[in-house]
Parts: sequence; C-alpha cells; structure tokens
Amino acid sequence: VTGELPGAWGWPEETLRAHGEDVLALALAHMAEQRDRAVFRPVPRALAERWRSEPWPADGCGPEELLAELELALEYPFGNGHPRFHAWVNPPPDRAGALAALAAAAANPSCAGGNQSALHLEREVIRWLGEMINQRSGGGGLLTSGGSMAAIVALGAARSRGSDFDVRADGLAGSPPQLVYASAEAHSSVVKAIELLGIGSRNLRVVPTDSERRIVPAELEAMVREDADGKGTPIAVVASAGTVNTGAIDPIEEIADVCAEQGLWLHVDGAYGAPAILTERYREALTGLARADSVALDPHKWLYVPVDAGALLVRDPEALREAFSLVPPYLLTGVDPDGVTDAPWISEFGIEQTRPFRALRVWAALRCTGRDGYRRLIDHDLDLAARLGAAVRANPALELVATGLSIVCFRYRAESERSGAVQRELARRIQLGGEAFLATTELEGRPALRACFVNPTTTEADVDSLVELVTATGAAAAADFD
Ligand SMILES: *Cc1c(COP(=O)(O)O)cnc(C)c1O
Repeated sequence: VTGELPGAWGWPEETLRAHGEDVLALALAHMAEQRDRAVFRPVPRALAERWRSEPWPADGCGPEELLAELELALEYPFGNGHPRFHAWVNPPPDRAGALAALAAAAANPSCAGGNQSALHLEREVIRWLGEMINQRSGGGGLLTSGGSMAAIVALGAARSRGSDFDVRADGLAGSPPQLVYASAEAHSSVVKAIELLGIGSRNLRVVPTDSERRIVPAELEAMVREDADGKGTPIAVVASAGTVNTGAIDPIEEIADVCAEQGLWLHVDGAYGAPAILTERYREALTGLARADSVALDPHKWLYVPVDAGALLVRDPEALREAFSLVPPYLLTGVDPDGVTDAPWISEFGIEQTRPFRALRVWAALRCTGRDGYRRLIDHDLDLAARLGAAVRANPALELVATGLSIVCFRYRAESERSGAVQRELARRIQLGGEAFLATTELEGRPALRACFVNPTTTEADVDSLVELVTATGAAAAADFD
C-alpha cells in the first residue's frame, strides 16, 4: 500500500488499545445495564432515514466516529437480553461467549478443516453436546448457523439415504415423491428445508397430534404404511423436542420405534428444547434424543451462546459425508495426525465452506458454565414459566392456553369476536411501552399471547409485574374496543 494505511490498518498501536478499551467498556455496560433501559424502542425516524440514505464515503473515519456509531447500534436492539423481554427464543449472550467472540474474530480462522485449534475445539463441543443427549459412541456432527441450516443438512442426508438412485447426480425429477412426516407444529425451517431440497412441501405429510399437540405414533405408523403403498417413498420423520409455539415434545422414543421398523430417518428438532434434558423435569421426555439419526440443537438458544451457533448431531457422520462431500483438488490432503490435516475436513460434512470460529464461543460458554450450571439456569427458566402459568390460572382476567418447557401461551379474556384484536392490540401496546416485551402466536386459529423465558437475569418480580402489566393493558385495550 502506498501512502498511509487506510482505516484501522493505519491506527497506531496505542490508539487501537485505547479504542479497544472503549469498545470493551461499551459492550460490558450494554450487558450489565440492560435493566435500566426500555426493553424496546423503535429506531427514530431520522436515524432510520440516515441509515437508509447516507452514501458510503470515499474517505475512512477515525476511532471516534466508529465508537459513536457502535454506541448508536447498541442503543436500538430488538429487546433481546433485557430481563423483561419474553418474545420468541432470543436470550442474552453468555458473558464468556461474548468475550470469546472478540478473540475468535481476532484469530479469524476459516473453519473448513485442518489441524488447527478451531477444528479440535469444534469436535470437542460437538462431543460434549452428543454426551448431553447420551448419543452412543461413533456419533458426530458439526456446528451450523442455526437450526434452519441443521435441518437442511440433516434432511439432505436423509434424502440421500432414502434414495435407491444417485440423488446427487440425478436430482429428484422423475423419481417417485419422497415423503417426510411431521406435525403441523413443526418449525417453518423444516418446511423450508423440504422445499429447498426439492422434496416439495406437498410431500410433507402432516401427522395428527393429541390434545397436547404431540404426534400420535400410531397415526404416524398408519400413514407411513398406507403411503408406501403407492403415494411415494417415505424417507424421514421430523419430531419436535420443544415446538417453538408451545414447547410441545413429541413422543420421541415411540416415533423412533416406528422409524426403526419402517427404515426411516429420524430427525429431531431440538433447536430450542433439547438442553432441557439436563433437568430432572425433562430428562425422561427427552431420552429418545439418543435414538435419533440427527438432532438439531441451537447453542444460541437455551445454551446462551452468542449468535450464531447451531449444532447438528448425527449418529452416523458418514451419512453427512455421503450427502455433501465434494473435495476440489486444491483442498485434497492426506490425513496425518502430525500433519496439516489430522482429520477429514468438516466442509465435507455440510454445506458451508468458509466457516466462522463458532466453536470458541460455544466452548467458552459450555466450559465456564458447566453442565450443572446449565441445569440450574434452565431450571430457573422453567420455574419462571411455571410461576407465570400459575398466575395466569389464578387470574380471572386471563386464560391459560398452553404451556411447555419455558413457554406460556395465554389470553386476556375478551368477547370471542374481538378476542383476537384485543390480544394483538395488547401485545402492541406492551411492546411499544418499553416495560416488557411479549410475542403473539395463533393456537387453534386464534391469536394468543406467548411468553418464553430464556434469561438468567429475569426474576420472579419480573414475572409478577408482567401479569400486572398484561391485566392493566388488556383492560385498557378491551375498553377501547367497546
Ligand atoms: C429457532 C428454532 C429453529 C430455527 O433455528 P435457527 O437457529 O433460527 O435457524 C427451528 N426449530 C425450533 C424449535 C426453533 O426454536
């Protein structure tokens, strides 16, 4: 480079250090002082307009302008991390994971493969997560961007294993339809994966559920038998270990029996709920995870690892390799424990080639918190959900609709023809009020409020104040509809 180095490349070491301390202070304050801020504030129109229209300047900026912009960026989050943010499944970051993020960015490896720390750490955390779900030895997997990518990779493997032709070469056109089974409560990412893999969402067979929104194994078995007789080729079942709507857990053991008998791939979507296996309350319901061919589990959900960190755990890693391995000549290397490549490249087992150093964030959170630590954190969230459920039951103005894991779905009681509008208006007022943040969902085709607890800093008092807030806001919203 001729002349002065542009941007941060040219900052003297002292400037970089001083500025680094400012940024660190900003990040630490953001995590420590959440409670003092509004849960959510919309981005002011003028700022939104600036972000929409300002051109990219030809000249770079100094550390002061960078810091000002970072401050602004942290001022308008979507609410996640705040102790009274209860929407979706968006936790605050594990503190050790957040620090590790900076170290990982400084190292900036490409985690496709090679005998480097990043890959050893990735295999270690995958092994720990496999042990958490009691996977038998020989299992493996990889970190992904999230549960959505995990579903694509898992069902990609199921598609290959379920084809008696070379699906990678031939594609699915001209072959009988491949059929995948799931309940209507399965996450939208499963539908996306099926569409993307060319299986087609029409070939997603919706299995009936019981009163607790769980797949009925006998119905599944009957459907598979009937479909195999002319409708197509059943290849896989997707069971949920904690649906995103109500935390419902399908009867995984019984579904695994059906899959074993019918020769189907079992993928379990435990993106949110799988870590609950650490608790006494859910250990039993989740024992079936060990029998799944593949399990999606998001460390960036209930394990609090900073986004992004998903994981796919598989019983037979070779199934992933068969479906995805494509090694270009410039990446070909022999495996040698003391050499450049000590194990097959992870890029052979999935879709991403250049991959971020997710493992360092995952490792930092898992190692610093420990297994028992996670059990306590998850129990705390389950306790808060139970507290909210009990408060809703005891409150004549509220109606409990469904609970599961750390999710509570409920309604403010209102005349049925305007109930939906009341729930939506109530949620909107709470979201814009800055005191708390709830999401809405639909159950039996009717809007409901949904709270999900994934936050070690949320307290019982926060739950109690949420109930008061919902009751008061609900009364005001309902009165405005009169
Ligand atoms: C979040 C979630 C997903 C999707 O995972 P991403 O990490 O958002 O890609 C899938 N299933 C369930 C149950 C989830 O909670």
